[in-house]
Amino acid sequence: MRAILLGPPGAGKGTQAETIVKEFSIPHISTGDIFRKNIKEGTELGKKAKEYMDQGKLVPDDLTVELVKDRLQQDDCKKGFLLDGFPRTIYQADALEEALKSMDQKLDYVINIEVRKELLVERAVGRRVCKDCGQTYHTKFNPPSKDGICDNCGGDLQQRKDDTEETVANRINVYEEQTAPLIDYYTKKGILINIDGEKPIDEVGKDIVAKMRNKIV
Ligand code: ADP
Ligand code: AMP
Repeated sequence: MRAILLGPPGAGKGTQAETIVKEFSIPHISTGDIFRKNIKEGTELGKKAKEYMDQGKLVPDDLTVELVKDRLQQDDCKKGFLLDGFPRTIYQADALEEALKSMDQKLDYVINIEVRKELLVERAVGRRVCKDCGQTYHTKFNPPSKDGICDNCGGDLQQRKDDTEETVANRINVYEEQTAPLIDYYTKKGILINIDGEKPIDEVGKDIVAKMRNKIV
Protein backbone atom coordinates (compact mmCIF):
# COMPACT_ATOMS: atom_id res chain seq x y z
CA MET A 1 0.00 0.00 0.00
CA ARG A 2 1.41 3.38 -1.06
CA ALA A 3 -0.70 6.24 0.19
CA ILE A 4 -0.71 9.93 1.01
CA LEU A 5 -2.64 11.79 3.71
CA LEU A 6 -3.83 15.16 2.49
CA GLY A 7 -5.72 17.83 4.40
CA PRO A 8 -5.38 21.25 6.03
CA PRO A 9 -3.41 21.75 9.26
CA GLY A 10 -5.36 20.25 12.17
CA ALA A 11 -7.53 18.02 9.96
CA GLY A 12 -6.36 14.89 11.78
CA LYS A 13 -3.67 13.49 9.45
CA GLY A 14 -1.22 12.53 12.18
CA THR A 15 -4.00 11.11 14.33
CA GLN A 16 -5.37 8.90 11.54
CA ALA A 17 -1.88 7.90 10.39
CA GLU A 18 -1.60 5.77 13.53
CA THR A 19 -4.61 3.65 12.54
CA ILE A 20 -3.64 3.34 8.88
CA VAL A 21 -0.04 2.25 9.45
CA LYS A 22 -1.16 -0.41 11.94
CA GLU A 23 -3.84 -1.68 9.56
CA PHE A 24 -1.54 -1.95 6.53
CA SER A 25 1.82 -2.53 8.31
CA ILE A 26 3.57 0.30 6.49
CA PRO A 27 5.93 3.04 7.75
CA HIS A 28 4.53 6.49 8.62
CA ILE A 29 6.54 9.24 6.97
CA SER A 30 5.65 12.70 8.27
CA THR A 31 7.82 15.47 6.84
CA GLY A 32 6.73 17.74 9.72
CA ASP A 33 7.93 15.14 12.26
CA ILE A 34 11.24 14.73 10.40
CA PHE A 35 11.81 18.51 10.41
CA ARG A 36 10.93 18.76 14.12
CA LYS A 37 13.36 15.92 14.94
CA ASN A 38 16.10 17.77 13.04
CA ILE A 39 15.31 21.00 14.91
CA LYS A 40 15.53 19.15 18.24
CA GLU A 41 18.87 17.62 17.24
CA GLY A 42 20.21 20.96 15.98
CA THR A 43 21.15 19.71 12.50
CA GLU A 44 21.79 22.02 9.52
CA LEU A 45 18.49 20.91 7.98
CA GLY A 46 16.73 21.68 11.25
CA LYS A 47 18.22 25.19 11.37
CA LYS A 48 17.07 25.92 7.84
CA ALA A 49 13.58 24.44 8.31
CA LYS A 50 12.94 26.25 11.62
CA GLU A 51 12.96 29.71 10.00
CA TYR A 52 10.04 28.75 7.79
CA MET A 53 8.12 26.55 10.21
CA ASP A 54 8.02 29.17 12.96
CA GLN A 55 6.26 31.53 10.56
CA GLY A 56 3.87 28.90 9.25
CA LYS A 57 5.49 28.97 5.80
CA LEU A 58 6.47 25.95 3.74
CA VAL A 59 10.05 24.74 3.86
CA PRO A 60 11.54 25.18 0.33
CA ASP A 61 10.67 22.43 -2.14
CA ASP A 62 14.25 21.40 -2.92
CA LEU A 63 15.07 20.60 0.74
CA THR A 64 11.80 18.77 1.28
CA VAL A 65 11.91 16.71 -1.93
CA GLU A 66 15.47 15.49 -1.31
CA LEU A 67 14.56 14.42 2.19
CA VAL A 68 11.57 12.38 1.03
CA LYS A 69 13.44 10.80 -1.89
CA ASP A 70 16.13 9.56 0.53
CA ARG A 71 13.53 8.24 2.94
CA LEU A 72 11.67 6.32 0.22
CA GLN A 73 14.90 4.50 -0.71
CA GLN A 74 15.09 2.88 2.73
CA ASP A 75 14.33 -0.80 3.05
CA ASP A 76 11.16 -0.47 5.13
CA CYS A 77 9.46 1.38 2.24
CA LYS A 78 9.67 -1.68 -0.01
CA LYS A 79 6.34 -2.91 1.37
CA GLY A 80 4.76 0.53 0.93
CA PHE A 81 4.44 3.75 2.94
CA LEU A 82 2.08 6.40 4.24
CA LEU A 83 3.20 9.95 3.50
CA ASP A 84 1.74 12.53 5.91
CA GLY A 85 2.14 16.22 5.03
CA PHE A 86 3.93 15.52 1.74
CA PRO A 87 3.43 16.53 -1.04
CA ARG A 88 2.25 20.05 -0.20
CA THR A 89 2.84 21.70 -3.60
CA ILE A 90 2.33 20.68 -7.22
CA TYR A 91 6.11 20.76 -7.63
CA GLN A 92 6.49 18.22 -4.80
CA ALA A 93 3.74 16.03 -6.27
CA ASP A 94 5.45 15.97 -9.69
CA ALA A 95 8.81 15.20 -8.05
CA LEU A 96 7.23 12.35 -6.08
CA GLU A 97 5.67 10.87 -9.18
CA GLU A 98 8.99 10.98 -10.99
CA ALA A 99 10.86 9.43 -8.04
CA LEU A 100 8.31 6.60 -7.77
CA LYS A 101 8.43 6.00 -11.50
CA SER A 102 12.20 5.57 -11.35
CA MET A 103 11.63 2.90 -8.67
CA ASP A 104 8.88 1.23 -10.74
CA GLN A 105 6.27 2.16 -8.19
CA LYS A 106 3.05 4.14 -8.14
CA LEU A 107 0.62 5.56 -5.62
CA ASP A 108 -2.49 3.61 -4.65
CA TYR A 109 -4.49 6.27 -2.76
CA VAL A 110 -4.55 9.84 -1.61
CA ILE A 111 -6.76 10.23 1.46
CA ASN A 112 -8.18 13.73 1.63
CA ILE A 113 -9.43 14.55 5.13
CA GLU A 114 -12.07 17.29 4.88
CA VAL A 115 -12.69 19.62 7.83
CA ARG A 116 -14.26 23.08 7.62
CA LYS A 117 -11.87 25.97 8.09
CA GLU A 118 -13.69 27.31 11.17
CA LEU A 119 -12.94 24.10 13.11
CA LEU A 120 -9.24 23.93 12.28
CA VAL A 121 -7.88 26.66 14.55
CA GLU A 122 -9.50 25.14 17.66
CA ARG A 123 -8.13 21.72 16.74
CA ALA A 124 -4.57 22.93 16.20
CA VAL A 125 -4.42 25.34 19.15
CA GLY A 126 -5.70 22.61 21.53
CA ARG A 127 -3.24 20.01 20.19
CA ARG A 128 -0.74 18.64 22.73
CA VAL A 129 2.13 16.33 21.80
CA CYS A 130 4.19 14.10 24.08
CA LYS A 131 7.78 15.31 24.10
CA ASP A 132 9.06 11.75 24.53
CA CYS A 133 6.93 9.45 22.36
CA GLY A 134 5.17 11.93 20.07
CA GLN A 135 1.62 10.79 20.92
CA THR A 136 -0.92 13.48 20.03
CA TYR A 137 -3.80 14.61 22.28
CA HIS A 138 -6.35 17.41 22.29
CA THR A 139 -7.24 19.38 25.43
CA LYS A 140 -10.97 19.08 24.62
CA PHE A 141 -11.50 16.40 21.94
CA ASN A 142 -8.98 13.77 23.02
CA PRO A 143 -7.61 14.64 26.47
CA PRO A 144 -5.09 12.48 28.37
CA SER A 145 -6.36 10.88 31.60
CA LYS A 146 -3.99 13.07 33.65
CA ASP A 147 -3.66 16.71 32.62
CA GLY A 148 -0.38 17.40 30.79
CA ILE A 149 0.89 13.80 31.08
CA CYS A 150 1.10 11.22 28.28
CA ASP A 151 -1.06 8.10 28.84
CA ASN A 152 1.42 6.01 26.83
CA CYS A 153 4.73 6.79 28.47
CA GLY A 154 4.21 9.35 31.27
CA GLY A 155 6.11 12.06 29.32
CA ASP A 156 5.21 15.76 29.48
CA LEU A 157 2.75 17.06 26.90
CA GLN A 158 3.78 20.17 24.99
CA GLN A 159 2.17 22.64 22.62
CA ARG A 160 3.85 22.98 19.20
CA LYS A 161 5.49 26.35 18.62
CA ASP A 162 3.52 26.79 15.38
CA ASP A 163 0.17 25.99 17.02
CA THR A 164 -0.61 29.58 18.05
CA GLU A 165 -3.76 31.16 16.63
CA GLU A 166 -1.79 33.52 14.38
CA THR A 167 0.57 30.92 12.94
CA VAL A 168 -2.23 28.42 12.40
CA ALA A 169 -4.14 31.09 10.44
CA ASN A 170 -1.04 31.57 8.24
CA ARG A 171 -0.71 27.82 7.77
CA ILE A 172 -4.35 27.56 6.68
CA ASN A 173 -3.78 30.31 4.08
CA VAL A 174 -0.65 28.57 2.83
CA TYR A 175 -2.62 25.32 2.60
CA GLU A 176 -5.38 26.97 0.55
CA GLU A 177 -2.96 28.62 -1.85
CA GLN A 178 -0.31 25.95 -2.32
CA THR A 179 -1.67 22.58 -1.19
CA ALA A 180 -5.42 22.55 -1.95
CA PRO A 181 -4.73 22.41 -5.74
CA LEU A 182 -3.50 18.85 -5.11
CA ILE A 183 -7.11 17.77 -4.55
CA ASP A 184 -7.85 18.39 -8.20
CA TYR A 185 -4.46 16.98 -9.25
CA TYR A 186 -5.12 13.61 -7.61
CA THR A 187 -8.84 13.53 -8.47
CA LYS A 188 -7.80 13.65 -12.13
CA LYS A 189 -5.52 10.67 -11.52
CA GLY A 190 -8.52 8.75 -10.10
CA ILE A 191 -6.92 7.92 -6.73
CA LEU A 192 -8.44 10.49 -4.36
CA ILE A 193 -10.56 9.26 -1.43
CA ASN A 194 -12.58 11.99 0.30
CA ILE A 195 -13.18 11.52 4.02
CA ASP A 196 -15.44 13.47 6.37
CA GLY A 197 -12.93 14.47 9.04
CA GLU A 198 -15.49 16.15 11.28
CA LYS A 199 -16.72 12.89 12.81
CA PRO A 200 -15.18 11.55 16.06
CA ILE A 201 -11.62 10.22 15.73
CA ASP A 202 -12.47 6.49 15.76
CA GLU A 203 -15.25 6.89 13.17
CA VAL A 204 -12.95 8.75 10.81
CA GLY A 205 -10.42 5.93 11.16
CA LYS A 206 -13.02 3.27 10.37
CA ASP A 207 -14.23 5.20 7.30
CA ILE A 208 -10.68 5.52 5.97
CA VAL A 209 -9.81 1.84 6.41
CA ALA A 210 -13.13 0.74 4.87
CA LYS A 211 -12.66 2.91 1.79
CA MET A 212 -9.04 1.82 1.34
CA ARG A 213 -9.89 -1.86 1.77
CA ASN A 214 -12.88 -1.67 -0.59
CA LYS A 215 -11.06 0.52 -3.12
CA ILE A 216 -13.76 3.20 -3.02
CA VAL A 217 -12.51 6.34 -4.76
P1 ADP B 1 -2.78 17.21 11.40
O1 ADP B 1 -1.73 16.13 11.46
O2 ADP B 1 -3.68 17.08 10.22
O3 ADP B 1 -2.23 18.61 11.54
P2 ADP B 1 -3.61 16.11 14.01
O4 ADP B 1 -3.84 14.67 13.71
O5 ADP B 1 -2.38 16.45 14.77
O6 ADP B 1 -3.73 17.01 12.66
O7 ADP B 1 -4.91 16.65 14.77
C1 ADP B 1 -5.00 18.01 15.22
C2 ADP B 1 -5.68 18.05 16.58
O8 ADP B 1 -7.06 17.71 16.42
C3 ADP B 1 -5.10 17.07 17.59
O9 ADP B 1 -5.09 17.68 18.86
C4 ADP B 1 -6.07 15.87 17.55
O10 ADP B 1 -6.15 15.21 18.81
C5 ADP B 1 -7.39 16.55 17.20
N1 ADP B 1 -8.25 15.72 16.33
C6 ADP B 1 -7.86 14.91 15.31
N2 ADP B 1 -8.91 14.31 14.73
C7 ADP B 1 -10.01 14.78 15.38
C8 ADP B 1 -11.45 14.53 15.25
N3 ADP B 1 -11.91 13.69 14.32
N4 ADP B 1 -12.27 15.19 16.09
C9 ADP B 1 -11.77 16.05 17.03
N5 ADP B 1 -10.46 16.31 17.21
C10 ADP B 1 -9.59 15.68 16.40
P1 AMP C 1 3.02 19.45 9.88
O1 AMP C 1 3.69 18.69 10.97
O2 AMP C 1 2.62 18.59 8.73
O3 AMP C 1 1.87 20.29 10.40
O4 AMP C 1 4.09 20.48 9.28
C1 AMP C 1 4.64 21.50 10.10
C2 AMP C 1 5.45 22.45 9.25
O5 AMP C 1 6.56 21.74 8.64
C3 AMP C 1 4.72 23.11 8.06
O6 AMP C 1 3.98 24.26 8.46
C4 AMP C 1 5.91 23.45 7.15
O7 AMP C 1 6.60 24.59 7.61
C5 AMP C 1 6.83 22.24 7.34
N1 AMP C 1 6.54 21.18 6.36
C6 AMP C 1 6.08 19.93 6.61
N2 AMP C 1 5.93 19.22 5.48
C7 AMP C 1 6.28 20.05 4.46
C8 AMP C 1 6.31 19.94 3.05
N3 AMP C 1 5.92 18.81 2.42
N4 AMP C 1 6.73 21.01 2.32
C9 AMP C 1 7.13 22.13 2.92
N5 AMP C 1 7.10 22.33 4.25
C10 AMP C 1 6.69 21.30 5.03
